[in-house]
Amino acid sequence: MPVIFSVDVEDWFHILDVGAPVIEDWERLPSRLEANFRRFLDLGAAAGVQITCFFLGWAAARFPALVREAAAQGHEVASHGFGHRLVYEQSPKEFYEDVRRARLLLEDLLGQPVQGYRGPGFSVTKETPWFFEELVKAGYAYDSTVFPAARGHGGLKLERYAPFRMQTPSGPLVEFPVTVVDVGGRPRCFFGGGYLRLFPYAVVRLMTRRVLREGRPAVFYAHPREIDPDHPRLPMSLKRRFKSYVGLRSMKGKIRRVLQDFPITSFARFLADFGESLEEMSP
Ligand SMILES: [Zn+2]
Repeated sequence: MPVIFSVDVEDWFHILDVGAPVIEDWERLPSRLEANFRRFLDLGAAAGVQITCFFLGWAAARFPALVREAAAQGHEVASHGFGHRLVYEQSPKEFYEDVRRARLLLEDLLGQPVQGYRGPGFSVTKETPWFFEELVKAGYAYDSTVFPAARGHGGLKLERYAPFRMQTPSGPLVEFPVTVVDVGGRPRCFFGGGYLRLFPYAVVRLMTRRVLREGRPAVFYAHPREIDPDHPRLPMSLKRRFKSYVGLRSMKGKIRRVLQDFPITSFARFLADFGESLEEMSP
């Protein structure tokens, strides 16, 4: 089994609910996205791998060249929605419109279909049972928003952690939960964001090997701002500050090693290679 590596393509100010800037102000903030995302593309090129880039629709509209560059380098372009609002803070209709808008925009830029979605903050919970159905209705074939462990912005308990197929009233969907492993009787993540920044690489590698030995892919995630230790800081509580900014200087090196040490793929390529063998389950 491979590692599925993904990047949520957004700027340094797209951190959730810390009194972060609102969408009307984003355009006036000094963007660091182009330089940081190109550094990500360089990491991918150096390792000779293709990954999945979940573009925030707002960022794609502002930097259309980045979308095309990612696709031209063989990476999968997928959707992070348009306005970066938490799933559980939207009505089903608002959510549908946001994710549909992002898909149409990306498809317009690329001239090819977009299959996948990841929501901001992994914010699908048991309070949003309509999530999967609305996503299928908006034209998506897979999702990677379920975080099967306790978490600030949600989390959704699962019986098993491997990717699975599900049926929704709008049609079928494949779910790729963010990877967790049971440690001390609890599901824990080592594979992205603050977790990847916090844990030493030796631990990340050990846990990744364990996941792959269990016969499931390891889903990794990162953000362009996480390989830019000098990006501006937003005001927030000490606890959030730790979670948002710990380990920034170590992140680039860890990502480089993950990309070198494991077979790497994108969600789309994983579906093409292993999609038939996924079991059906309801979330
Ligand atoms: Zn995001």
